[in-house]
Amino acid sequence: MKCDVLTLFPDVITAYLNESILKRARENNLLDVCILNIRDFTTDVHRTVDDYPYGGGAGMVFKPEPIFSAIEYLEKDGQARKVILLSPQGNPFDQRKAESFAGETRRLTFICGRYEGVDERVKHLVDEEVSIGDYVMTGGELAALVIIDAVTRLIPGAVGDERSVEDESFSSGLLEYPQYTRPREFRNMTVPDVLLSGNHEEIRRWRRKQALRTTLKVRPDMLDRIKLDESDKKLIVEISSEENN
Ligand code: SAM
Repeated sequence: MKCDVLTLFPDVITAYLNESILKRARENNLLDVCILNIRDFTTDVHRTVDDYPYGGGAGMVFKPEPIFSAIEYLEKDGQARKVILLSPQGNPFDQRKAESFAGETRRLTFICGRYEGVDERVKHLVDEEVSIGDYVMTGGELAALVIIDAVTRLIPGAVGDERSVEDESFSSGLLEYPQYTRPREFRNMTVPDVLLSGNHEEIRRWRRKQALRTTLKVRPDMLDRIKLDESDKKLIVEISSEENN
């Protein structure tokens, strides 16, 4: 994945990228991130990036000039780019979108807004607006990091064992089954026997059932979007009768 992050707070981005899986992905050239401080593209002595909204109203608005200048600076390298504006008004980010971004050959260029948002004319630069959820944060930095993190996990070689990505919540259309590790007994709470049985078919069935159970309970809407086979339908009948008893 190749990307750029345009931000007023480069240290926020750097701090997260310098830890754990993302750090390793960068060291292994699986993730290439260029971080630009938008304030470096101002031209006045005060390095101003915001101004009052035309028409009045609360707060300030991110000025268009430094954002245009930062994008034009990046474009000098001639690489193809998809420019993404982080915005609560954008298309929702989910696992499908993470997969589509992971397959992008263009650099993903993230513009992190601040204040009451960016001047509307910035949208002339933008290929897509993306939101990470129905809530408002103070800036786009966390949203950019959420996207970079989720997409990096999908790059072959970024996560130690690639099977862990295939089984994860949303990849299969269901939430993930419960996970346990040692010790077998902890404060009177025990690991389900089936996981210690060594019977791979039983374990697969138990995990599928638990994934269906959690999804039914927490995100029943997800079940409308996947094709359930006959064995899933049987498991759902079992779960319903267990829940009703
Ligand atoms: N006034 C804007 C509105 O009501 O839509 C919200 C601006 S918000 C305080 C400042 C910046 O944070 C936005 O420009 C955007 O870059 C970022 N941001 C906030 N919430 C976000 C979300 N849910 N997803 C993506 N970016 C978000």
